[in-house]
Amino acid sequence: MNVALIGIPWDENSSFMRGPAEAPPIIRAAFASESANLWSEDGIDFGATPIFDAGDVEPASGVAMINRIVGSISTLLDQNYRAVSLGGDHAISYPVVKAFAKKFSRLSILHFDAHPDIYDEFQGNRYSHACPFARIMEEGLVERLVQIGIRTATGHQREQIERFGVEVVEMKDFRDDLVVEFDTPVYISFDIDGLDPAFAPGVSHREPGGLATRQALNVIQRLKGDVVGADIVEFNPRMDSTGVTAMVCAKLLKEIAAKIHLS
Ligand code: MN
Ligand code: MN
Repeated sequence: MNVALIGIPWDENSSFMRGPAEAPPIIRAAFASESANLWSEDGIDFGATPIFDAGDVEPASGVAMINRIVGSISTLLDQNYRAVSLGGDHAISYPVVKAFAKKFSRLSILHFDAHPDIYDEFQGNRYSHACPFARIMEEGLVERLVQIGIRTATGHQREQIERFGVEVVEMKDFRDDLVVEFDTPVYISFDIDGLDPAFAPGVSHREPGGLATRQALNVIQRLKGDVVGADIVEFNPRMDSTGVTAMVCAKLLKEIAAKIHLS
């Protein structure tokens, strides 16, 4: 399957700190860095079969940007690419998944995050990066939402999880032998703060006690199902003084793209 990547430089719905809009070119540079090669762990050579780069979605604001993201992702899916979006905060996932749901009548999401992101509204904003999964579930865009790495669920969010039938693997209950299985096409939504800030400090919301990079890669590599797309969100270059988080994003891009190839 041909993978296309697309940058989404949009962070106006971030509740605490801006910066994820600056992520796309930095992840691309880390991916292309000569400090590493382009082979995935499973033996896919992205030097020989390059990932198509569709460029960035042209920035806009509010509903205009939502429509632009839906349109850009739909264009790639209509060309039979499996789209992986880079950057932005988690608010981008609602319009991206909207486009995927138009293409795939059955769809599920595997969501890595410290946060459930399922607030009905946050600070008065229904499109906040704390709300995308409430919008996705209200509109019935997916059959299953499986969340991994969660360690911040509030009372309200626990009610929302119950209301929408979300399957949550809270971080306190995470086991290294976890295998997730889907009988629908799967979209992976990867919020970098699902990882422990020791591994990925370049995020706006550093929440200790998270996944090791290795644990997240194992869940992705062992996943049973057809992965049709993904996003890598919430990387904040302003918080990444050593550049290690950019390399983590590039590694995830490579391994997710490999999983799509092997799906
Ligand atoms: Mn998130
Ligand atoms: Mn998060």
